[in-house]
Amino acid sequence: MVDPQQLEIRRVAEADFPTEYGHFRIHGFEGRKGRSREEAVALVMGDATAPEPLLVRVHSQCLTGDVFHSLRCDCRAQLELALETIAAEGR
Ligand SMILES: [Zn+2]
Repeated sequence: MVDPQQLEIRRVAEADFPTEYGHFRIHGFEGRKGRSREEAVALVMGDATAPEPLLVRVHSQCLTGDVFHSLRCDCRAQLELALETIAAEGR
């Protein structure tokens, strides 16, 4: 029997995702716990299954910073730096 309060995460979509930093794959995930539901995406560059450690950034969305380039935070700058660094590393 599945505990209704147990967190369930499943991948629901995957696609090519070219960016100005390079070519990524985008993976869409849906998480459910009880009646609440959240969505997240992972951008993956290169082979993430290789045993060597790889660079990871966890980015929380920031509408004003990411989309509207607000100067009240540095969310977009952090995201761009992360994408540049990951692209330079190749994975
Ligand atoms: Zn922000």
